[in-house]
Amino acid sequence: MKDKPETIQIPKPLEQLSSSELERKACIGKIMTFTLKSLSDTYVKEGFQWLLPVALSQSTDPLWPDPGASIEKRIEVDIYGKPVRTTASMIIHKLIASSTAYPKLFILSPNIRIEKAARAETGKHIYEFTQLDFEARDATSKDVMDLVEKALITLVKDLKTEMKGELTSLCRCDSLKVPKAPFKVCDRVELEAKYGAEGWEAGLAQEIEEPVWVTNIPREFYDFEDFKTGRWDNYDLFLPQFGEVLSGAKREWEYGKILSKIERDKVKKENYALVLNMAKEGRLKPSAGGGIGIERLVGWVAGVKHIGECQPFPRVPGIVNEL
Ligand code: ATP
Ligand code: ASP
Ligand code: MG
Repeated sequence: MKDKPETIQIPKPLEQLSSSELERKACIGKIMTFTLKSLSDTYVKEGFQWLLPVALSQSTDPLWPDPGASIEKRIEVDIYGKPVRTTASMIIHKLIASSTAYPKLFILSPNIRIEKAARAETGKHIYEFTQLDFEARDATSKDVMDLVEKALITLVKDLKTEMKGELTSLCRCDSLKVPKAPFKVCDRVELEAKYGAEGWEAGLAQEIEEPVWVTNIPREFYDFEDFKTGRWDNYDLFLPQFGEVLSGAKREWEYGKILSKIERDKVKKENYALVLNMAKEGRLKPSAGGGIGIERLVGWVAGVKHIGECQPFPRVPGIVNEL
């Protein structure tokens, strides 16, 4: 295992950066633009419709149960006499959209998760971030894993030829390697045996030198769980240093299973009335998808210490700047 990382410098707002820090910020900005273009090109070429995100809905990701959850506050306001929540993720929207008008879709979706201030120095948590969230009707986990591998390999390959100057300034020109498909796949149960139930995520992130899939992770009700074997048909993609960069799954679509999982998780049924009704009427379709944390991905490419460096206006837990 590698040494513990040194103390992380908290990313500063634009107006406090020195001229060399501004140059670095501009470099990371160019890597961000390249990454967004490369990923969206891949998804569009693969036949995915590009949807625009929403910020306020009655129903959003419960983010529960999740052993790593650290949400300090959930934002809920009334508009037009109805309670709405800020988007935690667009998973529920994806289930409905992929079952109806948009069989293959992706969204660059701002997610608001008011992480505990103690997470300021993890380097991988910010309280507003963006997911490239995607879903495909009738897809399998294997389809999604193949697609993500293709998207990442294309991205890194093209970055290494077209962004050489920027990668050199960020000292990533040589250390950033084009990953090879298929990526290694580990079962979460094996990782728990190796690193412990609490420490497997950190242990894996520190050990690996290329992307690794982890499957079979107990998560929210919408991920597919085989009730006979107890196995979850889901996957997280881990990168060196930051660890998890994507979570995704094949989804539940049957009413009875969704209802029993919502009840088991003690999640408020009334917040998921639409999904439950669609499932009851047989209108929810099987799908699979995932969400890539854009700042974590770009942070890995650029070799930053804190992913807030990838944001023009950093959202570090516990720190509220004017912009
Ligand atoms: P973690 O356990 O690392 O906090 P999570 O499992 O709670 O993450 P998910 O709900 O799976 O996160 O969100 C999907 C993706 O969004 C993650 O794989 C990650 O890339 C990104 N993400 C989640 N939370 C944050 C955050 N606070 N800051 C930046 N990116 C995040
Ligand atoms: N985007 C994730 C998914 O597709 C949901 C999440 O944010 O946890 O499964
Ligand atoms: Mg996750």
